[in-house]
Amino acid sequence: MRAKYLTTTPLQTKKLGEILAKEVLKTKLKKRALIIGLEGDLGGGKTTFLQGFAKGLGIKEKILSPTFIIMKKFSIINYQVSTKVEKKKIFFDSQFSNFYHIDCYRISRPKEILGLGFKEIISNPKNIITIEWADRIDKILPAETIIINFELINQKTRKITIGFKNDS
Ligand code: ADP
Ligand code: MG
Repeated sequence: MRAKYLTTTPLQTKKLGEILAKEVLKTKLKKRALIIGLEGDLGGGKTTFLQGFAKGLGIKEKILSPTFIIMKKFSIINYQVSTKVEKKKIFFDSQFSNFYHIDCYRISRPKEILGLGFKEIISNPKNIITIEWADRIDKILPAETIIINFELINQKTRKITIGFKNDS
């Protein structure tokens, strides 16, 4: 199953990221980290989406296009999530602790990312890992990775498709 969205402003793309982050925070921890791969056009909105996503995780620091940095780690501190149970809002602490922003734009072989301790990072269930240009390290990403594709339709319009790696 794939979900498709069209956005016509950067703010809409950020909002979509924020909504996904809030959903992710509600999920139970799995055996491994929760991984989201972002693929598609340059200027497609991957970094913009992650700015909204980080906001949804309660991260106050700025999310930049990490042109010279391959990997940046942020803490998810005491973040409370709300959900509705029988029409009442209840709050609980999210189980996730760390948010990673990785950019594989300047990576040509998966080996380069493995050298940064990638195996260890994906084995921690408390990590949420987002990877721009994830297709460059496709070989080492598990089947349950969420893949989001960004297509530049015109100057303002982006087509954003959300699915799982094993959909394709
Ligand atoms: P990427 O990380 O995929 O290369 P960025 O998020 O860095 O893309 O850049 C997207 C650029 O496109 C930004 O300059 C942003 O202002 C612009 N933009 C215009 N319309 C949109 C939209 N609907 N969604 C996201 N970005 C948009
Ligand atoms: Mg980017």
